[in-house]
Amino acid sequence: MRNLPRVLIVEDESAIAELIAVNLRHNGLTPIWTENAERAQIEVDAVLPDVILLDWMLPGQSGLTLARKWRSDTRTKSVPIIMLTAKSEEGDKVSGLDAGADDYITKPFSTQELLARIRAVLRRRTPEQANDSVTLGELTLDGASHRVSHAGQPIKMGPTEFKLLNFLMHHPELCSQQSLLVG
Ligand code: CA
Repeated sequence: MRNLPRVLIVEDESAIAELIAVNLRHNGLTPIWTENAERAQIEVDAVLPDVILLDWMLPGQSGLTLARKWRSDTRTKSVPIIMLTAKSEEGDKVSGLDAGADDYITKPFSTQELLARIRAVLRRRTPEQANDSVTLGELTLDGASHRVSHAGQPIKMGPTEFKLLNFLMHHPELCSQQSLLVG
C-alpha cells in the first residue's frame, strides 16, 4: 500500500508553515515541518520526502544553498523542490531554477495554487521516484530509506545499482521480456 505523499516544509515563519501544513493535511498529504536547513537535512537523511517546499530566506544556510546541495546528492537529486519566496524579481526566479528547483511560488500565494503545483510535481514523477516499497519474491526495496534486503537480510548497494534495481523492480515487465529473450 502506498503511503500518503510526504511533503517536507522548510520554512522559518511558523504562521506560514502552519497554514501550509493544515492545508496539506486536509488534502491527503503528510506535512513535515522543519524551520532551518540543519533540521531539514536531518529529516531528509531519515526519510526521503516526496516533495520539498523550500523557503528562500532561512536563518543560517539559505534555501538556495540547500537546493543546490540536494541536487548534487544522488540520493536527493530527484526529489521535486518547490521554492517559496517573498522575492518576485525575475533574476531570483532564474537563480532558484538554476539551483535545481522544479517550481517556484512567490509569497503571498493562495493555498489552492500551492496545492495545484504540488500535485503537478507529484504527477510528473516516474513510478520509481514514488519512494514506495516494492517486493518481488524475496527481494524488497524500500524507496523511502533507500534500503534493499533479500530474505530479510540487508544488501549493500551503491547509488547507481540502487537506481537500476529500483527502476527494474517497478517495471517487472522489462525483466520478463529479458528472460524470454535469454531463455
Ligand atoms: Ca523565511
